[in-house]
Amino acid sequence: MILLNGKETALTVREELRVEIEGLKEKFGRSPGLAVILVGEDPASQVYVRNKEIACEKAGIISTAYRMDADVSQKELEELIIRLNNDDAVDGILLQLPLPKGLDSQRCLELIDPGKDVDGFHPVNVGKLMLGLPGFRSCTPAGIITLLERYNLPTSGKKAVVVGRSNIVGKPLAMMLMQYGDFANATVTVCHSRTPNLAEEVKSADFVFAAIGMPRFVTKDMVKEGAVVVDVGINRTDDGLVGDCDFENLEGVASAMTPVPGGVGPMTIAQLLVNTVEAYRNHNE
Ligand code: NAP
Repeated sequence: MILLNGKETALTVREELRVEIEGLKEKFGRSPGLAVILVGEDPASQVYVRNKEIACEKAGIISTAYRMDADVSQKELEELIIRLNNDDAVDGILLQLPLPKGLDSQRCLELIDPGKDVDGFHPVNVGKLMLGLPGFRSCTPAGIITLLERYNLPTSGKKAVVVGRSNIVGKPLAMMLMQYGDFANATVTVCHSRTPNLAEEVKSADFVFAAIGMPRFVTKDMVKEGAVVVDVGINRTDDGLVGDCDFENLEGVASAMTPVPGGVGPMTIAQLLVNTVEAYRNHNE
């Protein structure tokens, strides 16, 4: 089985970006800028934000964190977004989700300038993905496609089953897989909690993408021999961090698989940097 090493691949992508940014800085006379908004004290969000900051620094992106108390008002948060929309040194704006209760995240996401929406969550960018137009792509699914590209595992003409239909992973991933291209052109099935015969659906897949949030949900008997398995899940259990797939038992069945940790997670961060550099280039050209 080929281990789809997202950690290593992400480091390669980030190094390529560092070199690219060095050249662009000379041309444009400034560094790319990412503004990260973190509201409240959610420990997981704090770790994610820190990891994104470190990755930005190493690549030469100026990342500025805007930390707000959990009791901040919707109005104050919206004012900050508007200020960042109008700040020429800010190429990308990332609103770390989830927001504390009482704040309307959809409203905030829709307020972000689509040209600075490096998370790809604004309805304009979601619509562009649907239409196959250039625009910012949601980081986790776009990072997954890059990982498949780097391992030369084209999905064209293959059957792909995506388990999970969230707006940040399942739906955009399904949409990317059904676009035109070698790492798209798939026949896509999306499964969720109301899917009857889910195991049968998954068993028919050449490519399985699990984005469920349930530890070791996808088991050996559900996967076709030789299938490629991409595990998006991050579940904190007594055994530590585990994915949505039963990695140990799938080793003898899958032809290639992502580990957790070290698979999709690092690719998500790398894609955020890719999107930020794209925004930076767009703003300067
Ligand atoms: P989510 O919004 O909770 O969505 C989970 C999806 O799984 C839903 O569509 C749900 O179906 C489906 N589901 C839940 N239980 C199911 C069951 N028993 N059978 C079939 N489908 C079921 O989660 P998410 O944000 O997409 O995240 C999924 C996982 O990926 C989580 O572990 C999350 O931590 C991880 N994640 C990782 C990264 C990364 O960078 N590696 C990024 C984002 C998320 P319904 O729609 O019918 O409820």
